[in-house]
Amino acid sequence: MSKQEKVRITEIFKDRLVQILLGKFLSGEIRKLEPVYTEDMGYTYPIVEKIVGDPKAVSDFLKQLTDGGILKKELYDRTLYCPNCGSAKISIRYNCPYCKSFDVEKSSLIEHVQCGYIDTERHFRSKEKLICPRCHKELTKPDVDHRKAGIWCVCNSCSKSFDIPVPSHFCRDCQLTFTFEDASYKDVYRYTLSPEAGKEASLGWTMVNPIRQFLESNGYKVEAPGILKGKSGASHLFDVTASLTDEVKETLVIDIATATEDEVTEQPVIALFAKIYDVSPGCACLIAVPKISENGERMAKLYSIILFETRDPNQVISGLKTLCVKAMG
Ligand SMILES: [Zn+2]
Ligand SMILES: [Zn+2]
Ligand SMILES: [Zn+2]
Repeated sequence: MSKQEKVRITEIFKDRLVQILLGKFLSGEIRKLEPVYTEDMGYTYPIVEKIVGDPKAVSDFLKQLTDGGILKKELYDRTLYCPNCGSAKISIRYNCPYCKSFDVEKSSLIEHVQCGYIDTERHFRSKEKLICPRCHKELTKPDVDHRKAGIWCVCNSCSKSFDIPVPSHFCRDCQLTFTFEDASYKDVYRYTLSPEAGKEASLGWTMVNPIRQFLESNGYKVEAPGILKGKSGASHLFDVTASLTDEVKETLVIDIATATEDEVTEQPVIALFAKIYDVSPGCACLIAVPKISENGERMAKLYSIILFETRDPNQVISGLKTLCVKAMG
């Protein structure tokens, strides 16, 4: 992955909603993001709707992630929408090419192999049996003594016959009849996490999971990512929040920053400080993967942010053990 690509992906990862979706991919809750079809709504992505809150925002959200190289899309289906009301409740109609009526009766053409007579099934039908109208022999063996020779349509409106009807569409919501030419015809995709983004995100994830397990086994209630409300009324997102009680002032918050170059800049320290200034948690940690700039280190000290510089979650855990002992003692 080029440096630019990495910067771009890291930038998109900062979005809270993107993080929630990524978490679902990385935990295996989503392997392939597939659309769900309902008659009322057509194709939707309920999991994504839940994350972004607004069903109308889903397609832009997925497009942003696809354009950004986070998700890979693959054509799943193509679907029709009514050009008038946008409904997906569309039926197909097969019409008479002469008078356009959809009151068309479809039947199979049958050929009696022995005598070569071809007619619609109706003319062969005699109660339960098929009898050739020309030579009066009974047809008993499909594909041997008789075979299907295509279809034949008869229009109940104008009585004309034809073999190829003309399709049109009917909107079951607004009753509009329209042709393919006028229809909204949209691609529907299935999405997977791109390997590059997956690799990048899983670093954060391999860090988060062991930490979560450690904290939970010590009785903490852990959210990752976790949202806490600040004094200003704004909600802030942390990579991990953990608490023994419901008191925010006793909550532990953790952010993880991955270096886009060889070290993490002071930027995530400043971002974390802005959040803890508003939220006032009991304790704030920043994990810099793999290490932090001098400036960042200085600022972390100044803001009383506990700093871990490592790729190894176990180092963070042993640091947290000391913290927890202090907190409990
Ligand atoms: Zn309609
Ligand atoms: Zn007709
Ligand atoms: Zn015959």
